[in-house]
Amino acid sequence: MPPDRPTQLIDGFDRRISYLRLSVTDRCDFRCQYCMAETMQFLPRSEVLTIEELLRTARLFTELGVRKIRITGGEPLIRRGVHELFEGLGSLTGLDTLALTTNGSQLADTGRALRDAGVDSINISLDSLQAARFKTITRIGDLDAVLRGIDRAIECGFERVRLNAVILDGLNRDEVVPLTRFALEKGIHIAFIEEMPLGQVNVGGKPLAYVSSDALQKELAEQFSLVPMTATETSGPARDFLIAGSQTQVGFISPHSHNFCAQCNRLRISAEGRLLMCLGNEESIDLRGLLRAGSTDEEIKTTIIESLSIKPERHVFDQPEEPQIVRFMNATGG
Ligand code: SAM
Ligand code: SF4
Repeated sequence: MPPDRPTQLIDGFDRRISYLRLSVTDRCDFRCQYCMAETMQFLPRSEVLTIEELLRTARLFTELGVRKIRITGGEPLIRRGVHELFEGLGSLTGLDTLALTTNGSQLADTGRALRDAGVDSINISLDSLQAARFKTITRIGDLDAVLRGIDRAIECGFERVRLNAVILDGLNRDEVVPLTRFALEKGIHIAFIEEMPLGQVNVGGKPLAYVSSDALQKELAEQFSLVPMTATETSGPARDFLIAGSQTQVGFISPHSHNFCAQCNRLRISAEGRLLMCLGNEESIDLRGLLRAGSTDEEIKTTIIESLSIKPERHVFDQPEEPQIVRFMNATGG
């Protein structure tokens, strides 16, 4: 957010919060190995924030100084009423960027409506270009549907379309270059995300191993000329590079190897309405309780402002003997 735009959301480490990630469901039409267990217990619907509650929450946060909202999940596009939500968010005063993270399965049908509602930016998860492997990773996903979704997103003219890939040793390590080439051919961006140990996820009894961003960057630098971008050209925790001679950016999101907490400008709200201070820690407040207790806008805003004093300075993911977090990513919203 430009410095001349005041925010009332300032934490105990003088970090200004301008970005909210809002999870609208914990349910999903995929079961990605690193995100969910094969059989999952989802929240009863009554515990998930309603569309009205989500819209009220988004309005209160924009009034407090949030300028960017990303809708995530679970899979947001399978949430009933999600288009009403996007329409409402698209007309919120004070919001500069409305973004979505999706697995792409529903995008071929919904891309146009999302663009018309005012969605600016879409991240689409894609971990493999091989149909059989895609099925193994997602357990039930259909690669063709996602590829159609990506093409539709490109046709609809979103300001920014980016692929998100989680690379795991022994699973899709060999697709780093093909995925980047694919993004380049499509004229879109790509980011590689280091796997975060959220929940007990393993395949065949073995924990999945993340690959460091530095290793991926080195591998890509052998194939492409990567030009580092400055912090003002990029946003968020990704370290971004431009592929020389193209519009395509390659980002590395490195919760393990390059801690990005010092620049943290974000808060998250889980599907059941917990305001989470940090992806890697459990500090939170029960926003749903406030919303359902008949609190006024001012009361809720005051509680949010005060709650920032418990935002931790940083996450720690590299102490495997002491797992920090026991929730799955679908409950938090990535
Ligand atoms: N369903 C949507 C999707 O897949 O894009 C949105 C929610 S998903 C939880 C958001 C992002 O989190 C995806 O890009 C996914 O790859 C990533 N993700 C899920 N589990 C992860 C983990 N354990 N470590 C790192 N990234 C993870
Ligand atoms: Fe669903 Fe996204 Fe999690 Fe995959 S990463 S299971 S698509 S929520």
